[in-house]
Amino acid sequence: MLAELKGLNEECGIFGVWGHQDAAQLTYYGLHSLQHRGQEGTGIVVSDGKTLKGVKGEGLVAEIFTTEAMAGLTGTAAIGHVRYATAGGGGYENVQPLLFHSQSGSLALAHNGNLVNANSLKHQLETQGSIFQTSSDTEVLAHLIRRSGYPHLNDRVKNALSMLKGAYAYLIMTETELMVALDPHGLRPLSLGMLGDAYVVASETCAFDVVGAEYIREIMPGELLIINDNGLTSERFAVSTTKAICMMEYVYFSRPDSNIHGINVHTARKNLGKRLALEAPIDADVVTGVPDSSISAAIGYAEEAGIPYEMGLIKNRYVGRTFIQPSQSLREQGVKMKLSAVRGVVEGKRVVMVDDSIVRGTTSRRIVSLLKEAGATEVHVVISSPPIKNPCFYGIDTSTKEELIASDKSVEEIRELIGADSLTFLTVEGMMHALGQEGTNGYCLGCFTGNYPTEIYPDTLQYYYQK
Ligand code: SF4
Repeated sequence: MLAELKGLNEECGIFGVWGHQDAAQLTYYGLHSLQHRGQEGTGIVVSDGKTLKGVKGEGLVAEIFTTEAMAGLTGTAAIGHVRYATAGGGGYENVQPLLFHSQSGSLALAHNGNLVNANSLKHQLETQGSIFQTSSDTEVLAHLIRRSGYPHLNDRVKNALSMLKGAYAYLIMTETELMVALDPHGLRPLSLGMLGDAYVVASETCAFDVVGAEYIREIMPGELLIINDNGLTSERFAVSTTKAICMMEYVYFSRPDSNIHGINVHTARKNLGKRLALEAPIDADVVTGVPDSSISAAIGYAEEAGIPYEMGLIKNRYVGRTFIQPSQSLREQGVKMKLSAVRGVVEGKRVVMVDDSIVRGTTSRRIVSLLKEAGATEVHVVISSPPIKNPCFYGIDTSTKEELIASDKSVEEIRELIGADSLTFLTVEGMMHALGQEGTNGYCLGCFTGNYPTEIYPDTLQYYYQK
């Protein structure tokens, strides 16, 4: 499904390099491959061992990093960020990496995820005299590091990280070090690779393939990696850790060519589709998937069901970002601009339309109607994940609870609203089975089940459950 139309958006992607003479260029390519994780802003900060300097702006990677902008980014270490604005909103000041200068040196920060206690920490810090230059929750970490009483930076960072709750994958760079931290639940993916003698870190392993780096391992929940010219050391900042990787990374967000904890995302999606075919067998003529993220699941469904997979929907790749507007009316217009049904494929056919999820339902309704206008005699919608009934507090913009169609409607009511002949969601058990798991341990399923891996703070709850 098309993220910007669906109302389900990843918040960010991060990429870092230590020890390579083309650090900024590699980061550019890395960010380019992570562009699907955020399209609203991007930035790169480089270190030449003495100073940190950066370029950032609102727009796509290819738009912001012009040849001129890249020419000024010289150094052997870099961190970069692509952003989708949710927590704290948009605006140039919130584009990352954030860069701070003080008498003791400079610090750059890039963050993927969302803190659930950011507001209470901000309130506490402001009471103690801090003044924030952004409205993003990322800046909280810089203030906590600065205020920590420990003499060494590593200890100050560990102390600051231990106060954060929620989802965070952080890249923290000074003139002489790159630190990499993952929250105690490992909610967001973050991997380490090597390119020759250089270290590379990325939200998704697809970025390693693009820059030619070799995958080494995942960053562990509660781990702090410290990389400098002497090599790499691993420390822990959290005593108690329970892995809970975001299930939506497999279902929808990550690129199909990425691997998360050893599972290839395309293969995972294909298996979700296969399982769906077992749970929802349908007498139909063709199977089609909503491009791009549902194609893998549709192929799996078709394979298992023994029904031909066809390209029943086509994505128009040349519609500019002008049409990506977060208002409901423009979102519906955007569906028409971006997707077309292929009459020659669906006319006179009973169609199984595979999608990865339903958020508000408006896009599904429009796609069902596109297929019927193109002559499909029946449209059966099958969803390769369970209904999203609850908001995400960890950096995925699933909107407020009241905007989620499955939060207060039955499957039959949703089917009627989207105009489908039938509607089936994958079960939680089926989803885990498709990933080769017996139970739900090791995964966050909060938006499906309402069981979240962390405590959720009242000010956060109030925002997401507003009525
Ligand atoms: S609540 Fe849903 S989208 Fe958010 S981290 Fe958990 S599984 Fe992912």
